[in-house]
Amino acid sequence: AGRLVCVGTGIQLAGQISPISQSYIETADVVFSLVTDGFSTRWLNELNDDVRSLQTFYAKEGEIKSRRQSYDEMVEAILSQVAAGKLVVCAFYGHPGVFACVSHMAIKQAKQLGYKASMLPGISAEACLWADINVDPGNVGFQSLEATQFLLYNHVINPYSYLLLWQIALAGEHTLTQFSTTEAKLNILVEHLQQWYSLSHEVIIYEAANVAFQQPRVETITLAELPTADLNAISTLVVPPVAQLTLNQQILTKLNITAAEIG
Ligand code: SAM
Repeated sequence: AGRLVCVGTGIQLAGQISPISQSYIETADVVFSLVTDGFSTRWLNELNDDVRSLQTFYAKEGEIKSRRQSYDEMVEAILSQVAAGKLVVCAFYGHPGVFACVSHMAIKQAKQLGYKASMLPGISAEACLWADINVDPGNVGFQSLEATQFLLYNHVINPYSYLLLWQIALAGEHTLTQFSTTEAKLNILVEHLQQWYSLSHEVIIYEAANVAFQQPRVETITLAELPTADLNAISTLVVPPVAQLTLNQQILTKLNITAAEIG
């Protein structure tokens, strides 16, 4: 019977994949891949003879095609191989199910059709981020949002914790047909963020290194500089907290403790 396993390859080539995920890639009948660079593609080809790239479903140059349609076609291609009775492994860069919808859609559909389907975790861009900027997200917490969703819906930002905006280079690109945003849309984003942060607030453009010999990009700019900053498909925006944690006096009273007693 056909079966589907979605695995993550991590962000950094070859070194960040878990042994169990690699073993699934090696033993799969068919591997579908969605990775960002040529190195990773070549490396996957060494692990399995039948690796098929899902990139081919994205719009070709000059073509206008919604990413939603591309995702549907990817899921269809994956499911057809599961239905053919194969062990199908989908290898996505990073974590297969973090800010990545194809794995979730394919697993859901496979299960609905009665096939076994599961996901194995991988090292996401966010996992690399905390390591590279030397911050424990547990210290003050963090919010993690897709930049366009942050613009289009009423999210409430917590100024006491970190804010991560994913797909910052696509902020406000609601048509799902373009692969970059514009300075005008980034200006709207900055204006929106000014409800919580000043224009001089320092933010970080973060890009984890894809290969071991590269350094991560950790570039500090002011919020005002964001619209003209150099952003690309792998950039994540990190907005550090603007306010210091304050004690909740009501809860302290209920717990019958004083500030001095807190460890
Ligand atoms: N599944 C991926 C993961 O686990 O990291 C995330 C995929 S999401 C569709 C793409 C977004 O992830 C990018 O726009 C960026 O925000 C973030 N991202 C991907 N690669 C990155 C990298 N090397 N450094 C920083 N952020 C990255």
